Amino acid sequence: MATRPPDMSEDSFAAFLGAVTAALGPEAVTTDPATLQRFRDPYTYREDDRRDYSAVVSPVTTEEVQAVVRAAACFAVPLWTIGQGRNNTYGGPAPRVKGSVLVSLREMNRILEINRELAYVVIEPGVRWSDLAQALVADGGHLWTSVPDLGWGSVLGNSLDGGVGYAPLGDHAANLAGLEVVLPDASLLRTGYGAHPGNAAWHAAPRGVGPSVGGLFLQSNFGIVTRAGYLVSRTPEAYAPCQLTFRGYDALVGVVDAMRDLMLTGVVTNYPALFRSVELVGGEQVMTPGSDGWIGRFALYGSRASIDAGLQTARARLGAVAGADLDASVFAGDDVTGLTRHDQRVQRGIPATELGDPEHLPFGPNFAHLDFSPVVPQLGLAVTAAEQFIAAHYAERRLPLSGGILLRGRNALVISTTFFDASDEAMTAVAYRSYAQLVETCAARGILPYRTNLDSMDAIAGHLDFGDSALPRFLGTLKDALDPGGIIQPGKSGIWPARWPQPAPSTGTRPSCRR
Ligand SMILES: Cc1cc2nc3c(=O)[nH]c(=O)nc-3n(C[C@H](O)[C@H](O)[C@H](O)COP(=O)(O)OP(=O)(O)OC[C@H]3O[C@@H](n4cnc5c(N)ncnc54)[C@H](O)[C@@H]3O)c2cc1C
Repeated sequence: MATRPPDMSEDSFAAFLGAVTAALGPEAVTTDPATLQRFRDPYTYREDDRRDYSAVVSPVTTEEVQAVVRAAACFAVPLWTIGQGRNNTYGGPAPRVKGSVLVSLREMNRILEINRELAYVVIEPGVRWSDLAQALVADGGHLWTSVPDLGWGSVLGNSLDGGVGYAPLGDHAANLAGLEVVLPDASLLRTGYGAHPGNAAWHAAPRGVGPSVGGLFLQSNFGIVTRAGYLVSRTPEAYAPCQLTFRGYDALVGVVDAMRDLMLTGVVTNYPALFRSVELVGGEQVMTPGSDGWIGRFALYGSRASIDAGLQTARARLGAVAGADLDASVFAGDDVTGLTRHDQRVQRGIPATELGDPEHLPFGPNFAHLDFSPVVPQLGLAVTAAEQFIAAHYAERRLPLSGGILLRGRNALVISTTFFDASDEAMTAVAYRSYAQLVETCAARGILPYRTNLDSMDAIAGHLDFGDSALPRFLGTLKDALDPGGIIQPGKSGIWPARWPQPAPSTGTRPSCRR
């Protein structure tokens, strides 16, 4: 039987689809099962239907997004939003509620402005990292963007979910500079100085005046972002990608502390990554399960003179760590062709295009992975203790462990990645159970992740219980006030509208339905 939104009759669903089709046109609305299948989470068990969509709608303008939201509010249809829907390991494109309607913003993919003087861009939500990186090169290469390892995702989807990248300005949420948002009642809100028509500082002074509400749209379900300013950086005169090798936990303590000093004094301005169990073999980085070898990457940016001085400081500071070895190359800031390795390219804002040939991945086309990424203060002992605890967790369960540690200056993400075969139900269940156990054992140690998959959102929200759960209660109050019908991404980050899990379509105020 075709999937429908919860508690919805066939007739009501048809009326909803009719309203959306009238506004967007028939080619923008589909219930075709093969298309819906393309929007399932590829990292869940292949036969798992807990998160099947009932329809996919593809608006191309803000007005069309408003029309979708208006219809959803009328008919109490839960929506889930994607920019590209490649949020793999965090749920991919899938919703929390079975039968939701997917609002795919892949077709809203225009770069509206590249502002060279002020170093920002204005983009729609479907713009991919690869699109932005290419557009900046085509614009003359005056500006760079930070990018994640892969360029397949959208800038806004990644940034709204708190994603990270590896050139300067790697905290992507912090680069959001003025949002335009469709609220659950289909009205349009602009944050900061965007609320002041004609104000030229909107994307240059993102907070504006008065309470700053931009952060409310991160990892949340209070609206659909249809446009945003996004900060990028000036192309430096020179760029020096650096490769660091070391062995064992004692050296890890020293490297984490040394990198903190280099970051907090402004010598290193990107997010360094340290990859566990990797060996250099003939100059190639080779994943070597069980090895105590680490390979780190970071980069320096600036004038040739400042890079020379920075490298001297970095060599002195890291040289004090027993066994640490640093290798650096210096490139002109506008040199794209000389960069041959992925680490050289990604730290200069050129992402990899795809995951790689499935035949070379563990489990081939059924490859899946779960990343558990807790946040700890960037203190060598604290990071190493978390690393050891997490490594022991995987070893006890005989699960593969890869990934590494992302350094953000004051805090670090201890990213543990485990691989599994998504066509194997039992193996997939083991990976998810291990993740859920890690959530609990780490929470008991005072540690939570920075971002999580759909299955663990409620558990993590449940640990935010300071002050009689004041924060979840605050968010729930906002949710019910802004979205009484509970239509926008119910369950995202564990924020549920009051009407769930027993949907009562008559709850709340809704705009009048035009059927
Ligand atoms: C091998 C691999 C490597 C990866 N490397 C990285 C990495 O280096 N850094 C990193 O951060 N991630 C990484 N990821 C995770 C993911 O691929 C990226 O974060 C990707 O950029 C997500 O973008 P997206 O467009 O697919 O997000 P989407 O799935 O489109 O969006 C993510 C979430 O944001 C919300 N959302 C999206 N658009 C809107 C909107 N317009 N309004 C309101 N809410 C919205 C939704 O809740 C959605 O579920 C990696 C994944 C894999 C598999």
